[in-house]
Amino acid sequence: MQEKKCRCKLCGALFKDSDMSEEHYPARSTGNDDIVALDIIKMFESLRSSKVHSEIEKRLAVGEKLEDITGNILDTQLTKSLYPKGRTARTLCRKCNTFLGKYDKSYLRFFDLDGNPKAIKGFQRQTKYQIIKAIYAKFISLPETQDEEFDFLDFIRNEDETSYNGTWKLYFVKRDKRSDLMGLPDIGTGKIVFDEGVVYEMSDDKFIFDLMNFPKHACFQMTNIFDILNKNYRLTEGTGKDGGYHAQVLISRLFSQINIQVPEEGVSKLE
Ligand SMILES: [Zn+2]
Repeated sequence: MQEKKCRCKLCGALFKDSDMSEEHYPARSTGNDDIVALDIIKMFESLRSSKVHSEIEKRLAVGEKLEDITGNILDTQLTKSLYPKGRTARTLCRKCNTFLGKYDKSYLRFFDLDGNPKAIKGFQRQTKYQIIKAIYAKFISLPETQDEEFDFLDFIRNEDETSYNGTWKLYFVKRDKRSDLMGLPDIGTGKIVFDEGVVYEMSDDKFIFDLMNFPKHACFQMTNIFDILNKNYRLTEGTGKDGGYHAQVLISRLFSQINIQVPEEGVSKLE
């Protein structure tokens, strides 16, 4: 039987399936190992379950704090292991995956320093470009983007390229507790469609990234990824009180888990 041919999303060449590699999105070591998901259906059930209620009461009676009890129940009973070895996609050939590994290393330095502008300002310009390219590159492996034609492939493929004037903007925020539903850092991916265009989201343990083909809505505070080239860029922390794009991505995914369709149109009008 002939082996299935796959097209590498970066170089565009055709390869045997066995010559493709497993690309981690987000990068490994940024939280992409043993991914758990909140079991939303089970959560609703346990809110009504007398068994869970009596467990909470018993533990309260022996002096445990409520938030410790609920946190423990959440961790041990309401999450399920989704990707025990991290989330990957067979989107790249081995050569491209190795090539991007160099960019991932630079991104890891940024990640380890929490994107702190004071520290990043000391990075070489080339390293900063590698960080930018590492993040753009991750988006080509998202399941949601598989039918999208991106105009930044040349920018990524050419190590020395320093200009990108295409349509895709990339913004990010640093996570804080409030950007996470019940304190679970959620590193799922997602897509939201607006009249203005489309937003793809990817995140890791520390940052949330949104790639979009229109300038972001002014009501959402985010940092443009190209700002890290500047000496003093402003790092945006948290997704703001309305939750930003992240909240909408999260909500639409939770609804799809409980099988309620959220119409893609009709997301509330934004300025
Ligand atoms: Zn390739």
